[in-house]
Amino acid sequence: MIEIDLTGQVAVVTGGSSGIGFATAQLFLRAGASVAICGRDGERLARAQAALSEQFPNGELLAMRCDVLDAADVDAFAQAVGTRFHRTDMFVNNAGQGRVSTFADTTDEAWREEFDLKYFSIIRPTRAFLPMLRGAAHPSIVCVNSLLALQPEPHMVATSSARAGVLSLAKSLATELAPQRIRVNSILIGIVESGQWRRRFEREAQPGQSWEDWTGELARKKNIPLGRFGRPEEAAQALFYLATPLSSYTTGSHIDVSGGVARHV
Ligand code: NDP
Repeated sequence: MIEIDLTGQVAVVTGGSSGIGFATAQLFLRAGASVAICGRDGERLARAQAALSEQFPNGELLAMRCDVLDAADVDAFAQAVGTRFHRTDMFVNNAGQGRVSTFADTTDEAWREEFDLKYFSIIRPTRAFLPMLRGAAHPSIVCVNSLLALQPEPHMVATSSARAGVLSLAKSLATELAPQRIRVNSILIGIVESGQWRRRFEREAQPGQSWEDWTGELARKKNIPLGRFGRPEEAAQALFYLATPLSSYTTGSHIDVSGGVARHV
């Protein structure tokens, strides 16, 4: 792996208490950056904070309860990062979850909730952290998005539609912020083993069925060319690349981390 020293820089990861966000926080801490993570569930956040502090005893870590859909929470999180670290260099919009529903079973309320989550989980945090990003030497924003943005699935109709919209939003942001040297990119993931999938495994697996068997069967059913789910650290590595100056001439772009699921050229 290419080594990069981020000592003195600050990375913020929304939803860093689990899955992809947690793995991304690990990579930033390993590279020497100070890191701030947030999440809604205080216990999950405390567990993540304890695990990261144990793994990186000299790391600078701020873990704060914050719902990215709550404007006051988001402002308080930005303020806390400013007070503790005085800057933000890399900002990762990761917090969120998907919604499984077809057009027939998606109510107006569900459509609104999904659009609210997908758009405002990016809009409000980005707005709150922009003033600090403007002061950084190599500022960047990276959004966790899904391949559904380009390859919609009927069983995730609202998520797919919203994902396409936020890919467009990231592109517009990249263009608007380029004169301020702020790069904006996305990753498009397929299926990544993480908290959401662990919870589905607990609900849906047959008695005695292992995690490996359950995910392997799903990967086969879903025709994932690489034959398995992605791992959080594989999504995190793409996020890390796009967040750091390793990708200094890349903006308005995305990396596909879907195990080959994309059918387009
Ligand atoms: P996890 O459930 O493992 O992690 C999600 C993280 O986001 C948790 O830390 C969670 O903490 C936090 N979070 C969720 N909603 C909010 C909120 N409103 N405010 C603050 N924090 C929040 O899932 P993943 O790691 O898989 O998910 C990361 C991102 O990747 C999500 O945006 C997800 O939609 C996206 N994604 C994941 C896919 C996959 O296959 N894993 C596929 C496509 C996209 P808490 O619940 O305590 O708030």
